[in-house]
Amino acid sequence: MNPRSADRGTADRGPQTADRRNAEEVPLPSAVRGPRSDYDVERIRRDFPILSRSIRGRKLVYLDNAATTQKPQVVIDRLVRYYTEENSNVHRGVHYLSEVATADYEAARTTVKKFINARDEKEIVFTRGTTEAINLVAQSWGRVNVREGDEILITAIEHHSNIVPWQLLCEEKKARLRVAPVDDDGDIILDELARLLTPRTRLVAVGHASNALGTINPIAEIIAMAHANGSLVLVDGAQGVPHMSIDVQALDCDFYAFSGHKVYAPTGIGALYGKESILDAMPPWQGGGDMILSVSFEKTTFNALPYKFEAGTPNIEGVIGLAAALDYVSLAGIENIAAHEHDLLTYATGRLREVDGLRIIGTAKRKAAVISFTLEGVHPHDIGTILDREGVAIRTGHHCAQPLMMRFNIPATSRASFAMYNTRAEADALITGLHKVIEVFR
Ligand SMILES: *Cc1c(COP(=O)(O)O)cnc(C)c1O
Repeated sequence: MNPRSADRGTADRGPQTADRRNAEEVPLPSAVRGPRSDYDVERIRRDFPILSRSIRGRKLVYLDNAATTQKPQVVIDRLVRYYTEENSNVHRGVHYLSEVATADYEAARTTVKKFINARDEKEIVFTRGTTEAINLVAQSWGRVNVREGDEILITAIEHHSNIVPWQLLCEEKKARLRVAPVDDDGDIILDELARLLTPRTRLVAVGHASNALGTINPIAEIIAMAHANGSLVLVDGAQGVPHMSIDVQALDCDFYAFSGHKVYAPTGIGALYGKESILDAMPPWQGGGDMILSVSFEKTTFNALPYKFEAGTPNIEGVIGLAAALDYVSLAGIENIAAHEHDLLTYATGRLREVDGLRIIGTAKRKAAVISFTLEGVHPHDIGTILDREGVAIRTGHHCAQPLMMRFNIPATSRASFAMYNTRAEADALITGLHKVIEVFR
């Protein structure tokens, strides 16, 4: 591996130029034809081939986007092109294909950097996803910085991915995991969070938005409170990146984690942002190739950021696919997507409220387009099954947030979650399906 060649900037290198020429021959996604102000959801839908398939003889209505999103043709094509024309290992060969793959891999890091407005590519570490990014911080940063009696503060609204890694760390270190409560709307009670910030609080780990309830947390405020207390902040951005514009410098968070598959990219790829000075001081997490400069049996010298944290052959096609997805989102405009999803949230919430016996769980003032609900007298699993017969895909269960379900005294909910390609007509199909559920069960 030659970190310097990877560091040197890739934009003006030969293989990249060749690649650009190829890219120009690929038709633009239809999302970008036409002015940005006119967000044409029907044109966007045509970019996602799976949306035109039918399920059990019905048109697919995919409302499980908080679990994973569908992929636009440009992302699928990019993966095919990678394997058809560029497949090679990165950071290793001097041969042409390895240079192409390395250039594209590092260009993707720049794309991620720009997408979340990080200062430097060194601050972007590729991981398998949000879960791995959080575990990296818990294991690497946590092992060095958390001692017996210290505290990690999370909230009652977290995904298991932002609970369990901290539990494991706290167990190992005899540290204490503290939990800021939420109110009946699903909003974090900030006064309680403030009260739980103590001189022992080493880190606050908080979700940007809840996958279970949709609550958009006031993370800028929480980050300011934590920093005033001398605590670092990790943001679980799995539901942030797909739904709103992210500026890690403006937020001033210390870590920000997200998953590609929730933002129209392939599975198995995600990223951890960390402030350079903090990442620099952290020990490596996994050992192997690519994360070292030199190895002898006596001593190994570790590579520079971000390679120190990327042991082994990475998910090259995932990284390249992630960049294609983020480019696609940027072309459609994340603000346009946010506005479109907000319209769907408002519309679907209004229509769901008309359904007899339906209770919406999660009524925070600021929400992402996620609606969890219960229906009197019907188990969520039955709701999901009957809706599936209508071609409507929703999620039922605890949404990887069992403590949160307990807080609301329910074992499970049904959850409809919307993305850039959903329509009001699909919200209507959900309502029609729910009326069928009621016919069957009442
Ligand atoms: C999906 C999700 C995660 C976990 O992401 P993985 O892709 O499974 O690693 C964590 N937090 C939230 C809020 C999520 O929605």
